[in-house]
Amino acid sequence: MPVDHSDPVECLLKHNEEFTRQIITVLPGIHCAIGYGLANSILIEGNDGNIIVDTLESRESAEDVKKDFDKISSKPVVAIIYTHNHSDHVFGAEVFANETTKVYSHAKTLEILDKTMNLVQPITFQRAARQFGVYLNKETGHINSGIGSLLNYNQTNRRAYLPPTDTFSGRSLELDVAGRKLILYHAPGETDDQIVVHMPNENVLLAADNIYKAFPNIYAIRGTTTRDPIQWIASLDLMRNLRAEYLIPSHTKPMVGKDEIYQTITVYRDAVQFVHDQTIRCINKGLTPDEIIGNQLVQLPKKLNQHPYLQQFYGNVPWTIRAVFDRYLGWFSGKTSDLHKDAPKTHAENLVKFGGGAKEVFAKAQSAFQEEKYRWTLELVEALSLYPEDVNPSEINELHCSTLEKLAAFETSANGRNWYMTKRLEIQGLIHIKPSEKQIIETVSKSSIKKCLQVLPVNFNYQKAEIENLVIFFHFNDTNEKYSVELRNSIVDVQDCWNEQIKPDLAIEIKTERIWKEILVRAKTPMDALDNKDISIKNQQGDDYPEGILQLVQFLLLFAP
Ligand SMILES: [Zn+2]
Repeated sequence: MPVDHSDPVECLLKHNEEFTRQIITVLPGIHCAIGYGLANSILIEGNDGNIIVDTLESRESAEDVKKDFDKISSKPVVAIIYTHNHSDHVFGAEVFANETTKVYSHAKTLEILDKTMNLVQPITFQRAARQFGVYLNKETGHINSGIGSLLNYNQTNRRAYLPPTDTFSGRSLELDVAGRKLILYHAPGETDDQIVVHMPNENVLLAADNIYKAFPNIYAIRGTTTRDPIQWIASLDLMRNLRAEYLIPSHTKPMVGKDEIYQTITVYRDAVQFVHDQTIRCINKGLTPDEIIGNQLVQLPKKLNQHPYLQQFYGNVPWTIRAVFDRYLGWFSGKTSDLHKDAPKTHAENLVKFGGGAKEVFAKAQSAFQEEKYRWTLELVEALSLYPEDVNPSEINELHCSTLEKLAAFETSANGRNWYMTKRLEIQGLIHIKPSEKQIIETVSKSSIKKCLQVLPVNFNYQKAEIENLVIFFHFNDTNEKYSVELRNSIVDVQDCWNEQIKPDLAIEIKTERIWKEILVRAKTPMDALDNKDISIKNQQGDDYPEGILQLVQFLLLFAP
């Protein structure tokens, strides 16, 4: 049935039907739980145990679904499969697992998880909260999150993540679990570590996030690199050629019927190819993303545009165009004035002065709003927020918020809508998005010590540093891991070995990795650790040097926010 494009808000409201909380028994022993979290969780019953594919985004969501799964079958979970690293698939695992549960994933999953949990954690937390509308509710404008009702992960939710125990790095892995035959295919698409699961005996394909009932998210505004469209297409080809009778995606409802599944995956991959190819055709003419998008040079043809699986509720065509451009040509648009830009505040000042002063520009912004030129209004209001001169900031904020509401109302993508509506709350000062202390501690405790150390360089405040050179050796006694951390040339170099040619300023013996993690999250001071004999320090000569604790404290302060 072709889709009628009416009011974006109405369309998104109707899309909610996809996420009504329910467990769909796709065929005997195979159940798909929808609407318990952002993603689906899939229960596969086996002879002497069960398999769970994807575990939702938090302990709370997982507990909800487990309660209902237990009513179907309370056999122990012998295997968990993570289709990929995203939080909405991995943060509920502990709830299902017992001591012997195996956790399967692609080898890259662990690698990527470790990275996202550390290096860019602060900003992705904030941006994901905006994209998914985590801080919104019905009253403040949340309708859904595009591929699920809501990401149930705010400051109060707990993570119940388990690291994978069994990974594979080849093309596929065949498993026989509790009498069920499963073939895990590496199928990079929405993520590089994506796997899809084929059950050849039942001809069921668990499609992970490579297809869902919404336009694919080639780039996520929460902050990801561009997902490789060519790779995604190849994986969709692999998937459609399996000719599955049942398709169970990890978001939105399952589908039954060999032909329908084949055709749907075909249309899905064709849409990705269309936007990819046509964008590159435009790029090669020297066009910038703004020109391609602004002049609507790449728009889905009618047949694709009306397909129920290609509604732009999650990813959309304009952001895909930007993503494809970025993937091939990087950040520079090719427009000469984009080579070097003024700081936003300088730009705002120039714009306001050019417009005849803040009062005049504010009046112009109000007229633009009346004329329904909301993007232009937003640009003016953003400039005025930076350079308000003699306009009352609360008046600017009010117009700012009204503009965001209007833009949200015209936005087909739930991600875009949630972003606008969340920014509105932030401008009103009603929310401040940041992870709770508890969440930070959880993140650190589940990360490897290597990653905990590797996060130091990107937190190094070089402008504050009075010390120019320093070498510290760390030895974690429980794991016998050795690291060196060297401060030089305004960078911090972390190596997972000791350079025996160098005599460190401090050599620190630490009883357990856990102690260092506690120091990092400020649950313990270095002084306490020293007093408890949890750490000991030696100087360059190799003598005991408890006074070195002051240097260690000073060193840690270099990474304070
Ligand atoms: Zn997902």
